[in-house]
Amino acid sequence: MNAENREMVGGTRDKKRGHPLLRWSTKQETFSHGFSQSDLQALSAICEAIMPPVPLLSLDLDMKLKVLRNDALLSFFKSSGSHVRPDEVAEVMATKAMPVTVTVVRIVLRLLTFRLGTLLLCGFVCLDKKNWSFLLLKFSDISLEKREKVLQKWNKQWYNPLARIAFMMIKAIFLFYYFTWTNENTENPAWDAIGYKVDIGENEDIERKQRPLEKGIIETAKEDEATIKQLMINKGLKLKEDKESNTFKIECDAVVIGSGCGGGVAAANLAKSGLKVIVVEKGNYFVPQDYSTLEGPSMFEMFEANGLLMTHDGRFRFMAGSTLGGGSVVNWAASLKTPDAIIEEWSVDRGIATFDREGYTAAMESVCKRICVTERVIREGFQNQILRKGCEKLGLDVTVVPRNSSEEHYCGSCSFGCKTGDKRGTDITWLVDAVDNNAVILTQCRAEKLIFADTESGRRKKKMLGSHNFDIKHSHK
Ligand SMILES: Cc1cc2nc3c(=O)[nH]c(=O)nc-3n(C[C@H](O)[C@H](O)[C@H](O)COP(=O)(O)OP(=O)(O)OC[C@H]3O[C@@H](n4cnc5c(N)ncnc54)[C@H](O)[C@@H]3O)c2cc1C
Repeated sequence: MNAENREMVGGTRDKKRGHPLLRWSTKQETFSHGFSQSDLQALSAICEAIMPPVPLLSLDLDMKLKVLRNDALLSFFKSSGSHVRPDEVAEVMATKAMPVTVTVVRIVLRLLTFRLGTLLLCGFVCLDKKNWSFLLLKFSDISLEKREKVLQKWNKQWYNPLARIAFMMIKAIFLFYYFTWTNENTENPAWDAIGYKVDIGENEDIERKQRPLEKGIIETAKEDEATIKQLMINKGLKLKEDKESNTFKIECDAVVIGSGCGGGVAAANLAKSGLKVIVVEKGNYFVPQDYSTLEGPSMFEMFEANGLLMTHDGRFRFMAGSTLGGGSVVNWAASLKTPDAIIEEWSVDRGIATFDREGYTAAMESVCKRICVTERVIREGFQNQILRKGCEKLGLDVTVVPRNSSEEHYCGSCSFGCKTGDKRGTDITWLVDAVDNNAVILTQCRAEKLIFADTESGRRKKKMLGSHNFDIKHSHK
């Protein structure tokens, strides 16, 4: 958003909250996106067509009066995609989106900077019938109304995958940026207009020193090679240096890759049984006082592929946690037990021994106990209240979804980390058990390759020698 627009509206939310990685960085002046000025002009023309200004004349009298009496609404209706700095949208795209989709966007934007390219992608809409001496127009010179029609077509044109993917990606990134971006005072001009509020003060009271995994964690992003080595030794690991390949071999009994719902529980149990366990997690470690609940940066930082993991045709988007604690940190806390019929199907019909009714049910009970699953909810969320009311009116049965947070907990921002520490993710349960039993956790550390070797005997053909190449890449997931 340009400077003028940023200053237009917004309440005063004066303080910075949360970890710097979970806030928007301050205004950027240099960019690394690599788009040319003409690419950016085409991008801006697309953004304007995705979000055009709403002319007051098009509103009915009631709405017009409402808008004229409300500064925030007025500026929201007047503003459009062209008010957002294309550099900023391009930067988010180039640094956060999947490289293959960014390449498609680059190709499409470049084509749109040429008249023939525009003709190829948009068809005859780029013919300027009024001006016979200047017949073909490039995309940014086409009228706003016609640009909107082009985008509507792209959205449906399965036989034009380049344009369709580029449109989906630009739309997703631009709207996400427009509605989630905040300035240093945690303000976004659109929020007051659409009535969106972020509760940013709740974690103020949590003591700074609470970092329950401190004892076993090595946050590789904060260290260098020498200090990582020293910290590993301090935490009881034996290292062997292989000068030839410039690698370290770490001796341990078990390596758990990923610290989410599966990895966290496995690490706790393996460590409890006396094994020396290493947990390798490619995300970062955050604690309740770090969470900002700001959608944009939280999504980029704590979700797989910056929250932008989608199929190549852009039709499906996938959400998965990628932070210490994995999905258990960003999920909605609904803790449903596996229904009996499903256990029956798995254990009896499919004959899978792991799901043997007694053993599986006991394990499930033990998990529910550790993460404090409760069916009692004192304050129900707004949308749940509406849903309940609707179901009751229709005469449908309504039950409470059990959650792994306390009965009085309510926040509405579960997907961006629990600021009160109420949600019992692996980061405050199983991983704590694991480090209490001497497990070591490496964050910002991605396992790249599993090495298998033949066994001398036995039923399994291969045994795992090691998880190779803990790629310690700072800020890369
Ligand atoms: C927004 C959201 C809401 C959800 N809500 C609910 C809900 O209410 N109830 C429910 O039951 N389920 C919910 N889920 C699903 C649930 O969280 C997942 O099913 C669960 O977390 C999966 O556990 P997991 O151990 O397989 O993987 P995850 O919990 O996703 O953990 C995988 C971890 O491994 C790390 N990792 C991956 N590859 C590597 C590598 N190569 N090297 C190092 N680390 C790696 C990742 O960074 C991640 O932290 C939700 C999920 C999301 C995303």
